[in-house]
Amino acid sequence: MTEVQHREEVIHFCRLLHQRGYLASADGNVSVRLCQKRILVTPSGVPKAFLGPDDLLVVDREGKVLQGRGTPTGELPMHLAVLRARPDVKVVIHAHPPSTIAVSLHRRLVLDRVLPEVILDLGRMVVVPYARPGSEALARALEQQISRGDGVILERHGTLTVGRDLLEAYALTERLEHAAHVLWMANALGRPSQLSEGEARVLEDLHEQNRRRRTACVE
Ligand SMILES: [Zn+2]
Repeated sequence: MTEVQHREEVIHFCRLLHQRGYLASADGNVSVRLCQKRILVTPSGVPKAFLGPDDLLVVDREGKVLQGRGTPTGELPMHLAVLRARPDVKVVIHAHPPSTIAVSLHRRLVLDRVLPEVILDLGRMVVVPYARPGSEALARALEQQISRGDGVILERHGTLTVGRDLLEAYALTERLEHAAHVLWMANALGRPSQLSEGEARVLEDLHEQNRRRRTACVE
């Protein structure tokens, strides 16, 4: 894919994230590794519904702007840390989906014990404890956690998912928010039942097998 195509695809997914209600205004951010030294990122302060391809910036691995006007997202340290920790992925999507944020405020609501698809797609969920958005502390916490799976929940903040392309990372955001919505509704009806520990472990094993198979194909 050319850089122009990557830019158009980022805009498409930013609008989709906004249309689906997974972020509001200028919230959330997307990065795409174009090559080892060039990363395409969304800018700071521009609502995702109104972003155009020329608003995106190219930065290096240290976050220095190589191309573009404006300022890169204030949450760039988090993206750089994740891309450093996961050389196997090309895309990072960070969103603020409301149901997932709501669930993250209730520690007794555990997302990976609700629907089998969540475990099959994401393995055991990680909730990264609150750290200020855009801070180095959040970047460091993510650097440690993102090797455990392709999606994490940021307490009081949102989601961060990775993928080999935008569709893969976006699909995981959608998966998380859908599961959080189901958990929210089930909780409104009373205390939801959970998958048994034994079934959860079988699903986790299946997830691991698929992950290994996928990595082997890449290699
Ligand atoms: Zn954020």
